[in-house]
Amino acid sequence: MKLIPEVFAARDEIQRIRRTIHAHPELRYEEVRTADLVAQRLEQWGIEVHRGLGKTGVVGVLKRGAGKRAIGLRADMDALPIQELNTFEHRSQNEGRMHACGHDGHTAMLLGAAQYLANHGEFDGTIVFIFQPAEEGGAGARAMMEDGLFAKFPVDAVFGLHNWPDLPEGAFGLREGPIMASSNEFRIDIKGIGAHAAMPHNGRDPVFAAVQIASALQSIITRNKKPIETAVLSITQIHAGDAVNVIPDAAWLAGTVRTFTIETLDLIETQMRKLADATAAAYDCTVDVAFNRNYPPTVNSSQETRFAAEVMREIVGAENVNTAVEPTMGAEDFAFMLLEKPGCYAFLGNGEGAHRAFGHGAGPCMLHNPSYDFNDQLLPIGSTYWVQLAQRFLAHREA
Ligand SMILES: [Zn+2]
Ligand SMILES: [Zn+2]
Repeated sequence: MKLIPEVFAARDEIQRIRRTIHAHPELRYEEVRTADLVAQRLEQWGIEVHRGLGKTGVVGVLKRGAGKRAIGLRADMDALPIQELNTFEHRSQNEGRMHACGHDGHTAMLLGAAQYLANHGEFDGTIVFIFQPAEEGGAGARAMMEDGLFAKFPVDAVFGLHNWPDLPEGAFGLREGPIMASSNEFRIDIKGIGAHAAMPHNGRDPVFAAVQIASALQSIITRNKKPIETAVLSITQIHAGDAVNVIPDAAWLAGTVRTFTIETLDLIETQMRKLADATAAAYDCTVDVAFNRNYPPTVNSSQETRFAAEVMREIVGAENVNTAVEPTMGAEDFAFMLLEKPGCYAFLGNGEGAHRAFGHGAGPCMLHNPSYDFNDQLLPIGSTYWVQLAQRFLAHREA
């Protein structure tokens, strides 16, 4: 493993920062203390700081030379509404809040890189450090972009990194094309006419229509979608009625749709509306379909992904870089940045939990689990990756 010596030497300081953030988790758009800490450190290292993008987002800008190229490096800062089960010293001090997705580690790794780059960085151009709020369901990346992130701080490419418990400690995983799915919610409201349960002919039964619709929707996945395209449609709620002898006058069902392309998503939404309308009409009911697209699919561009893989191989060796990592049906709001800029979102193996300090919870070290903890061994690896990525992207070029 080829870590930058100065980055490795600073690991205790960066670990202290990581554990401080872990002990003080803040939910989406409430990352005030975390943003203060990030801004203070960046300023302390002589990096230009801009605040208030996406409410609590922080941007650091570091320029060298006359180079016109710019790279964006992004970390997320928010925690989750989970009661932590770990009892070790750096456990959450905030009731019902926890860094169970490792964003404490992501923030610390990028700070570690910023410290090195400010003090020793050799590059020609601009590095934009992006510390975003609200990755967990709040679309903080989009909020920063709406506040002019890329207009004020233009970059040629943008990169993101997430710790990944399914990969061995310190191994990288990435792939060209889709790596995470789009996340979408739908709700279908069915209106009929209520009646006595013993006299259904007097009503228009919305429960029966709801069940037919629920069943029909799965045909989109098997009959309309291309077999080689991946998609999930899960109905997770069906609600209707209050009494066994009453046919209610309304019912609703809701669920989630995940896809790796917008085309497949368009097809599923269109077909869902068609099936819901036609099925309800067949039973003399009416429907209202609400379909909300939350996060788009996270799609890595080829050139930047190959470049990132090269940098990773130099640090951890080719045997520890999986360039065909299995994509996940989970979603990630870095996807919004990749809609505007080429770039690469990658995973860094967090291991299975052997790293956890004494007093960790009984559960597995999985993302969003109350016994999870970020693996501090990754700090110098992630920081080295960020540094090398930026330095190589902005390497001095002979005119
Ligand atoms: Zn998460
Ligand atoms: Zn996360």
